[in-house]
Amino acid sequence: MADIIKLLPDHVANQIAAGEVVQRPASVVKELLENAVDAGATSIKLIVKDGGKALIQVVDNGIGMSETDARLSFERHATSKISNAQDLFNLQTKGFRGEALASIAAIAHVDMQTRTENAEVGTHIKIEGSKIVEQEVIATPIGTSIAVKNLFFNIPARRNFLKSNQVELRHITDEFHRVALVHPSIEFHFYNNGSEIFNLPRAKHRQRITHVFGSKMTDRLVPVNEETEMVRISGYVCKPEFAKKSRGEQFFFANDRFIKSPYLHHAVVASFEGLIKPELYPGYFLYLEVDPSSIDINIHPTKTEVKFDDENTIYAILRSAVKHSLGQFNVAPILDFEHDPNLDTPYAYKEKGMVLPKVTVNPAFNPFQETSEKGTARPTYQKTSVKGWEELYKGLDVDSDTEGFSSLEIESETEVQGTLYPETETETYSGTTFQLQRKYVVSTIKSGMLVIHQNRAHERILFEKFLGEITVKEGVSQQLLFPLELSFSNQDRTILKEIHESLSNVGFAFEALDQETVKVTGVPLVVSESAIGTVLDRLIADYKEGFGEAPVSQAEQLAKTLARNLAVRSGEPLDEESQLALVNDLFACKEPALSPFQKLTYTIISEGDIEKKFS
Ligand code: ADP
Ligand code: MG
Repeated sequence: MADIIKLLPDHVANQIAAGEVVQRPASVVKELLENAVDAGATSIKLIVKDGGKALIQVVDNGIGMSETDARLSFERHATSKISNAQDLFNLQTKGFRGEALASIAAIAHVDMQTRTENAEVGTHIKIEGSKIVEQEVIATPIGTSIAVKNLFFNIPARRNFLKSNQVELRHITDEFHRVALVHPSIEFHFYNNGSEIFNLPRAKHRQRITHVFGSKMTDRLVPVNEETEMVRISGYVCKPEFAKKSRGEQFFFANDRFIKSPYLHHAVVASFEGLIKPELYPGYFLYLEVDPSSIDINIHPTKTEVKFDDENTIYAILRSAVKHSLGQFNVAPILDFEHDPNLDTPYAYKEKGMVLPKVTVNPAFNPFQETSEKGTARPTYQKTSVKGWEELYKGLDVDSDTEGFSSLEIESETEVQGTLYPETETETYSGTTFQLQRKYVVSTIKSGMLVIHQNRAHERILFEKFLGEITVKEGVSQQLLFPLELSFSNQDRTILKEIHESLSNVGFAFEALDQETVKVTGVPLVVSESAIGTVLDRLIADYKEGFGEAPVSQAEQLAKTLARNLAVRSGEPLDEESQLALVNDLFACKEPALSPFQKLTYTIISEGDIEKKFS
């Protein structure tokens, strides 16, 4: 048989290698930022367009490159950072593989301008798909600027695989955070599509964290410090009451490098034991310093996973250091164990047993029909849901009389099929209901017993309500007499701006979205004032978790998130009126049978089922 093995040409090898280094625009951002840090820059600018698909540019004021180095830097395995294998065990730099620029140049259009301190002129090189297409002498400031355009121009499959610009921007922002948080003495600017989204002056760690995540962080951070022979730990954890349902503010750095370590994460979580609910994530920014020879950062191509020589000991030290800090800063005793901010539900079923909710229901209400008459009932629970408002208007005797229920003797109806309640205008159910285990609402129907899952049913009701409002843009907004000031990080504000229109359709109103402290001037009826912050935080968190990635529409996703966060929960007592309202509103829905998350909202236990039990 003839020989069949061939050596791959360089450009093919480069493209293959590129696949490992560059998965998406954020990978390029990481490599370029790290190179700038390695070059000793004190000021770094990141410029991004269209989620990095059109442009990623990093400008630094570091040491720059000579003409020869500038050309060489694009060769594979060309690095100034190590020269022998021994150096691998004493790494002081982020890069060392000499792969990044070669890989990037293989799959994009790269434009580099660079000058060293003692050269009078600099070098300008253009590379496309590994080929130098232009090189010239140029007047340029000391330092390096690398612009990467048209990423994956020669690998369409990869390019098509990229997510929306928003999602790619989110990944880029994550990488930016990881570098910025560990180099507070470097000034960073980050521009997205022409507007500056981060401006981070030189600072100390703590200030850098608040510059990145917003000044609300200031009061949340508890310092952690521990020095042992094996490891030096410094940084901050967030107070337990600010633990979140979603990940996002968990950062470990080892020797100034962002690392992922589920094992060490566990150590931190363990030190919060008893202080936060198991499903919550504590926030932390922890910087570990170890002897470079005791850490192997080589085990993963993108270098976020590391191996410590004695991980168990580091685990133990970390755990006790965090515990100690939490205790020392008196965090534990002031914690109110009973208070669960998640249960600050805006939905006023809770603790409202004595107040009769005035509910108006139009079972034929179709949230997708713009023509629904004003004044006719919609499935809102207005009077029960305006906690904050009621306070403001106490004594003003708000007219609370709305249409009562017209009655439908469901048990005497003819055979119920498909929908439980005929879709005629005025019929509502007014029979007996009771709540089972604070979880189900039970009522009787002709064919037997109807058991409704209160949480899921309410999710369905709210989902259709919000979706309708977003679609027809007619959510009712309650103006807040005193605008609520909430501070958000830049990233979070970018997200708020992205979903701003949908949010205002359901009744949110904002001012000063461009400033760190955003003013909330209006909220949907069902959101109580005390819950606004939580609801917005959750919305943003859901968005970060990828609802920007979901194939469904933003409107649908927003409606889902609102529904999930505002729906009455299992475990909450419901008074009789609310139970009844729930039944009626559920069956006024277009798709009453399933929650927006595709779970059954109700089940029917038929007379036959019951009879069987007695046979
Ligand atoms: P590595 O960082 O692993 O060495 P790279 O491909 O990222 O490999 O970079 C190759 C070389 O190019 C680096 O070792 C460095 O000498 C040089 N270089 C890259 N970016 C810069 C920069 N911003 N400033 C100065 N030199 C740089
Ligand atoms: Mg590098």
